[in-house]
Amino acid sequence: MKVLKKNKIILSGVLLLMTIALFCLFESKEKNQGLEKKNLTEEVILEIEKENQENTLIQKKEVEKSFINLVYALKDGNYKSYIVNSENGNILKIEDLVKSEKIVDFQKKVKELIYLKYPTFIADSLIKENVEIAYEIGDKELILHFTNYEITPAVLEELNLKINYNEIKEELNFPVELDGEYENENGYHYDKNKKTIALTFDDGPSGRKTLELLEILKNNKAHATFFMVGNRMESQRETTLEVDKSGNEIGSHSYSHANLTRLSQDKIIEEMTNANNIYKSITGKNMKLMRPPYGNINDLMKNVLDYSFINWNLDTEDWRYRNSDHIYNKVIEKVEDGDIILMHDLYDSTIKAVEKLLPELYVRGYQVVSVTELANLKGVNLESKKVLNSIK
Ligand code: ZN
Repeated sequence: MKVLKKNKIILSGVLLLMTIALFCLFESKEKNQGLEKKNLTEEVILEIEKENQENTLIQKKEVEKSFINLVYALKDGNYKSYIVNSENGNILKIEDLVKSEKIVDFQKKVKELIYLKYPTFIADSLIKENVEIAYEIGDKELILHFTNYEITPAVLEELNLKINYNEIKEELNFPVELDGEYENENGYHYDKNKKTIALTFDDGPSGRKTLELLEILKNNKAHATFFMVGNRMESQRETTLEVDKSGNEIGSHSYSHANLTRLSQDKIIEEMTNANNIYKSITGKNMKLMRPPYGNINDLMKNVLDYSFINWNLDTEDWRYRNSDHIYNKVIEKVEDGDIILMHDLYDSTIKAVEKLLPELYVRGYQVVSVTELANLKGVNLESKKVLNSIK
């Protein structure tokens, strides 16, 4: 009995030793494999660095010990990026950093933000499949550098999209640093450091033509001021309301397009009050800006009216030429920062000209806004009785 017991103990000891030995063997194999993978990752990174010797490294960053992001600026102004899995050296796609069930949401969000940042003629080109995107995983934002796009008219600025992580925190599958101060990306912002001009349309509203202009303005991140005639607002209340709701501005062009400098004090006041009453009955607001019909202003008008008088310094003479090339060329040849441009939303030739002009003005670095936005961006007060031809 005793011997049997002893044998049992020896057997158990041998078994234990064997288990430990097996465990150690397995463990070291795991370690070796890990080491090999790590070496593989390093090799991949070295290969990338070798390939990009000519380019400028702008970021090499390991995120959460799970992937490494390398971004290069190329000599031709484009960018190139790599996302390498830290574990095994595999090259990842941006979709690999997005929760699989959220990929569609992520792509939708990116598309929305591109259209929020850029005019339609640029955004349309950026969402095409042949456009390459270099991804820079920043500290607070994901930066998309667009390359290989074709846009007409040619855009010279660097096209990119910076997406704050607050916007895509639900979609990403790695933890990101959130910005407590962040406010939703919900509108387009004009920049006071950019060249800015105001576009103005007189003598409307003009039904379909005015509505077409609203669409063109919207597609180009542009605004305008519509100096409307009271009796036309009266017969086109819906169009007036559409303009008002669209973020564009409405100013007064009197009730009946009368030459106010030939009228008595009472008649001047009547013209302007009637126009304002109609506007107010449609929108609930008062007009603060006026464009005197024919641009004519006298002292009596300044004495009795509490409006800012907004004339122009660039006249397209669109009513005279009715030719879109003429209108286009006139603006492109003369335009300068702070201009107020005169047009009329009455002619198809004007609409055609604006459709061609806005992209060209954009690529030349201009933003196109309403008169009040121009004044705000230039830090000019639009007090009543002031006469302005431009806001420099
Ligand atoms: Zn007029």
